[in-house]
Amino acid sequence: MVTPEVEPFIKEGGLADVLGALPRALASLGHDVRLVCPKYRCFRVRPDWEALPGVLYIPLGGVTTYARVWMARLPESDIPVYFIEYNSFFDRPGVYDEDNHPYPDNDRRFAFFVRAALELPRFLSWNPAVIHAHDWPTALSPVCLNVLPGDHPLARAGSVLTIHNLEHQGYADRSLLDFAGLPAWLYRPDGLEAMGAVNALKGAIYHANKITTVSPQYAREIQEPDGGFGLHHVLRFKAADLVGILNGIDHERWDPGRDVFLPVNYHRRNLRGKTLCRRALREDFGLEDDLSLPVVGVISRFQYQKGIDLVLDVAGRVLEEARVALVFLGSGNPELEGRIRSLESRFPERVGSWIGYDEGRARRLVAGADYLLLPSRFEPCGLVQMYGMRYGTPPIVRRVGGLAGTVSDLDESGDGTGLIFDEPTGEAVFQALVRASGIWYDQPDRYRKMQQNGMKKDFSWQTSARKYSQVYQWAWQARNPNGKP
Ligand code: ADP
Repeated sequence: MVTPEVEPFIKEGGLADVLGALPRALASLGHDVRLVCPKYRCFRVRPDWEALPGVLYIPLGGVTTYARVWMARLPESDIPVYFIEYNSFFDRPGVYDEDNHPYPDNDRRFAFFVRAALELPRFLSWNPAVIHAHDWPTALSPVCLNVLPGDHPLARAGSVLTIHNLEHQGYADRSLLDFAGLPAWLYRPDGLEAMGAVNALKGAIYHANKITTVSPQYAREIQEPDGGFGLHHVLRFKAADLVGILNGIDHERWDPGRDVFLPVNYHRRNLRGKTLCRRALREDFGLEDDLSLPVVGVISRFQYQKGIDLVLDVAGRVLEEARVALVFLGSGNPELEGRIRSLESRFPERVGSWIGYDEGRARRLVAGADYLLLPSRFEPCGLVQMYGMRYGTPPIVRRVGGLAGTVSDLDESGDGTGLIFDEPTGEAVFQALVRASGIWYDQPDRYRKMQQNGMKKDFSWQTSARKYSQVYQWAWQARNPNGKP
């Protein structure tokens, strides 16, 4: 797997969670899975990391450069993670950006990384049957595979591209092809070219043997003009090779019974510990100490996609008319961060926030809140709602993408794992919060049933890993039509 992120080493979003968990599930099915990721500045080399002997030679346009390779393993597993060390590209404060400004040479940084990753099999004398790329940063992988010389160790490898989020596509100047040593003919409308520039993700969609995305709903949505970010026609063209496979979550690492970040652990059959988590959360965020007031948590990147502005548009009304407290954890758009801070100063006892990234706080918020709110405009899969259900914290979600595929709306009989609303508007968020607060106050038994329903759900990776296994087989067969699987 060629990836820009892998939890617990480096995480910017849900992609990292997937890369930290899916390989374990694949390994338990018998696959020899290995990951390769850039070595970023924030990594602290630990004693169990190994600097592999020798250097990795990387062919670029006209020159060959070289990098060092480190090896670690996914915690509590034998799965190798190789890190490519190349300081002029990766020894920087950020992964993709700094102060909300993407690095201007992101195209070259990740083109370099892809070329390096594809040389790793030769360096390791290990030939994978399939290369699995993730999102725009590694999207050049399937393209490069199609132009490798016949004697390259990966010349017969199948390629799989997973789209975790179609919004970001990796635009670049045409000169990227020269930099990466790729032939000029790849720059064509049914390849890498889009609107007079290189579009790495578009190229990957054309070139990959198989394409997956992170929920069946999102696989359908991205084939429509509204959800396709300009690529719906390309995805329709490749529809026969496009498969939606729902993300799982790592049940071992996300378990309220064992989570070391929680002040107290708890189980589905005994939620006493959750009450203590609720109390600790109130203290941490400086909310009034009123356990009868439900806390609605938001854990998110603060971007347009996530619909945080919709919550802020109605938050004043919500706080006046619905008896709830709101807690925000995340970072992103400075204007949204400012609006959250000013809301907090208007309602200090009912609103809490923490601007930034904090794994422990996120887990304590998942455990200590009474609801988690995900008002996304689009959501390829979403993980927070699944973590919420597993921790007995019902999600309130918009009916879109993976949110619609993982949450079922509470019905009259008490079936359902959360609350769902339809429109991407402040009014719909307001109505959903009024409903949530009503259920919390007036129908505690229904609330508890909803909690229990969510906690009983199995979101583990086992089923989805089997589907990936099948996709790998198809991808390999596409390259080796006469070979035995
Ligand atoms: P996306 O990948 O679009 O950001 P997901 O719901 O798929 O959204 O995954 C987000 C992941 O990042 C989850 O594991 C969530 O707990 C985590 N996360 C988001 N914001 C923060 C934050 N501020 N601090 C800690 N973890 C966060």
